[in-house]
Amino acid sequence: MNLFCDVSEEQLRRERQKARDLRRSQWWRNRIATGFCHYCEEHFEPKELTLDHVLPLVRGGRSNRGNCVPACKECNTRKRDLLPTEWQEYLDALACS
Ligand SMILES: [Zn+2]
Repeated sequence: MNLFCDVSEEQLRRERQKARDLRRSQWWRNRIATGFCHYCEEHFEPKELTLDHVLPLVRGGRSNRGNCVPACKECNTRKRDLLPTEWQEYLDALACS
């Protein structure tokens, strides 16, 4: 069964546009000004932080404040490359270190 089948191209386009708007908002500037990656909690320059969807758009995630967090490049890259279960293992490993 394909869990992603009910996310339409149109919804994806809409959510991506909302993410672009969110990235320009004062809320987001304040969010990255603190400089912490949501996942590894390391400190970074604001310009090094990217907007990440906790629940990816292709899985029905939305571009709202609850689902968008600052992520460093390393976490962002890992999240893209890993399966959801592997990503969870990565987060668990971070929590223990
Ligand atoms: Zn990180």
